[in-house]
Amino acid sequence: MDISVVIPLYNEAESLPELYAWIKRVMEENHFSYEVIFVDDGSTDNSWEIIEGFHQKSPAVKGIRFRRNYGKSPGLHCGFQRAEGDVVITMDADLQDSPDEIPELYRMITEDGYDLVSGWKKKRYDPLSKTIPTKLFNATARRFSGIHNLHDFNCGLKAYKKIVVKNIEIYNDMHRYIPYLAKIAGFTKIGEKVVHHQARKYGTTKFGLDRFVNGYLDLITLWFTSKFGKKPMHFFGLWGSVMFFVSFISLLIVLGAKMVSLMAGMPMRLVTDSPYFYVALTGMILGTQLFLAGFVGELISRSSPNRNNYKIAEEI
Ligand code: UDP
Ligand code: MG
Repeated sequence: MDISVVIPLYNEAESLPELYAWIKRVMEENHFSYEVIFVDDGSTDNSWEIIEGFHQKSPAVKGIRFRRNYGKSPGLHCGFQRAEGDVVITMDADLQDSPDEIPELYRMITEDGYDLVSGWKKKRYDPLSKTIPTKLFNATARRFSGIHNLHDFNCGLKAYKKIVVKNIEIYNDMHRYIPYLAKIAGFTKIGEKVVHHQARKYGTTKFGLDRFVNGYLDLITLWFTSKFGKKPMHFFGLWGSVMFFVSFISLLIVLGAKMVSLMAGMPMRLVTDSPYFYVALTGMILGTQLFLAGFVGELISRSSPNRNNYKIAEEI
């Protein structure tokens, strides 16, 4: 099979017939063998009945229906597990992404050899309240991930080699950082294609302002777990040691000052009169806390089932 299209959706009944007819037309015009996997993320409208209708007419349509709303990332994850096509393409269900991009995305994966190609909505049809924070979001994501050539991490329209989707695990709200997840898994040939974007025709966006807070927290989590997930003590131990060192130097200053004033016969001062006393105290407490966090982290990572889970590319 050439292509699997994976579409996570939540209450998108109005868009589905148009979207599916469009995908079908593009696939047939280009003679692709394909499947379309709709993942209904607990919709409360009649999205599922519509998907069942498509499936009855064509076995190329598959559907997964969540019992409740879990989010876009779980939807993508389950779609990826089932995808069988050589190239996997994801798109949003709201008709903002154009199925006409599929042939070129397919070509970039199969001929140019990209592991992942991400769409770039260069000209966006979204409200300003969304486009401006998105610029900031992408700049931060580029910085953290080290993938400097991407402008639009969270574009719903993306294409992957099958092996990529089978080797990444999207959870939480990590769909915003799939290129970063792919890079962490060792797939580094990541490209970009400018894609057409349209204003949402039906329904409303499913993400509120909390997307920015959550997006930023997830980025920090991803950065931390990818760097120190298997060796937490290298992070906590380093900062714990820095704290102990600062504390030790401050202690020397406090004691030194005390000795000097004793020898010079100056009037007695309490150690608590010196600001360095408080620096020493705080440093010791923070250092202990950081080391404890490091030990707990190590205990957890030792007993984690994937502590020795490495991505092997080849074996002979
Ligand atoms: N979506 C989903 N589960 C959710 C929220 C969204 O499957 O909990 C789907 C949604 O139906 C759409 C895609 O994810 O197909 C992108 O959502 P949306 O268009 O609302 O996001 P935006 O384009 O505003 O970033
Ligand atoms: Mg949308």
